[in-house]
Amino acid sequence: MTIKVTCSKCAKTFEVSDKFGGKTGPCPNCKAQIRVPDLSKNFVVHNPKNWFDKQDELMAKSAAVRKTSTSTSGNPSQMPTILLLTVIALLLLGTLGVQVVSVFQRRNAWEYMITSPSDIDFQRSLDNHGKNGWELVTARRASNSNSLTIKFSYECIFKRRK
Ligand SMILES: [Zn+2]
Repeated sequence: MTIKVTCSKCAKTFEVSDKFGGKTGPCPNCKAQIRVPDLSKNFVVHNPKNWFDKQDELMAKSAAVRKTSTSTSGNPSQMPTILLLTVIALLLLGTLGVQVVSVFQRRNAWEYMITSPSDIDFQRSLDNHGKNGWELVTARRASNSNSLTIKFSYECIFKRRK
């Protein structure tokens, strides 16, 4: 049985008998002293430095994978926040909808007012109510028959949007 050995200096790969396992000898190519790996160890260290670098790289990679999987599994912890934001958005939309509906209802609603200004005050009263958005619907001549001296006035009905 042979052991595959790669020279750490000239990178040439060759095979030696397993009886040299764990021993040191000259590279047949460059004569550099190389250690033949022991087969009882299950792996061949061609270049210890590179090997450790590779291990570091692997460790970093697996750490990165762990980190990624952690952040993926971390997503469910963000779910309540997303859910909360969705609920808030829906509530806002609902409130807005209610406001739009109430504005719409207000637009379609009238309020009325009945006044009975005196004859002297009639013109000024109409102007004042007009300034406040009141529109005269109807006015009729009315008399106060309850008093001894009958007083005539206009009874006015105004309307405006609620
Ligand atoms: Zn060599």
